[in-house]
Amino acid sequence: MQIIDGKAVATSVRSALKAEIETLSVSSGKHPGLAVVLVGDDHASRIYVRNKINACAELGIKSTLVELPATCTEEDVLREVCTLNDDDTVHGIIVQLPLPRHIDTDKVLASVKPEKDVDGCHYVQKGKLWTGNPETLPCTPYGCIELLKHYGIEIAGKEAVVVGRSNLVGRPLAELLLRENATVTICHSKTKDLGEVTRRADILCVAIGSGKFIKADMVKDGAVVIDVGMNRDEEGKLCGDVDFKNVADKCSYITPVPGGVGPMTVTMLMKNTVEAFKRRI
Ligand code: NAP
Repeated sequence: MQIIDGKAVATSVRSALKAEIETLSVSSGKHPGLAVVLVGDDHASRIYVRNKINACAELGIKSTLVELPATCTEEDVLREVCTLNDDDTVHGIIVQLPLPRHIDTDKVLASVKPEKDVDGCHYVQKGKLWTGNPETLPCTPYGCIELLKHYGIEIAGKEAVVVGRSNLVGRPLAELLLRENATVTICHSKTKDLGEVTRRADILCVAIGSGKFIKADMVKDGAVVIDVGMNRDEEGKLCGDVDFKNVADKCSYITPVPGGVGPMTVTMLMKNTVEAFKRRI
């Protein structure tokens, strides 16, 4: 069994990106720019935003943080996005989710210019992905595929099972696996006999948000397991959707939590920002 070291892969992708940004900045006289819109003061969101801003600083991407109070109106958020859409020094925009309930998330995400949507959340970007002509890949699924590729894990022809069908992770991940020519099954909360399906998987990807839910008897011997989940266990420690301790021995490869998919998400956001910058210059 080999543990997939997401931190190490993220470090190697970032170091290549940093070199690329330096070269691009010298040749164009410009720097890639990422704007993050944060509404309210959700503790977890603040940590995620801080990680993104720090990653920008590490790589030489100019970051702009737009903070709005939880009491702001939908119009306030749309106005800020509009300003960033028109700002030529901003190549990527990310609206940190969740937004307060009184704000229509879909409307805000749709207000970002598709070419500046570096999260791959805009319906235009999703449409491009689904019609086989992707431009910006959603960061977390993109990170999962990069991990598989980095470890030389063959995807084509494999039986891949994705548990979870969210717009953010499950669905786009299934689409990316399909693009890599896996035979893909998507499971969700209404799937009957989930274990029977997951046991068929050569590549099992789990994104449900339920700590240690996937047990050893739900995994085939020798499977590759990608655990996207981020949960707190009974001791308050970070854990995935997979019962890592009992599942790991059955796998050929498995991602840990923390240190698996997580570090790749911000890294792919940086990569998407650089790609958006390159398209602009
Ligand atoms: P989500 O929007 O809540 O979607 C969860 C999905 O899992 C839904 O499709 C749901 O099915 C399915 N599901 C829930 N319980 C299930 C069960 N018992 N059996 C089968 N399917 C079940 O969550 P998400 O945004 O995709 O996130 C999933 C997890 O990934 C969370 O832990 C989140 O924190 C984590 N995450 C991590 C990263 C990262 O960077 N590492 C990024 C994003 C998300 P229905 O559709 O039928 O309700």
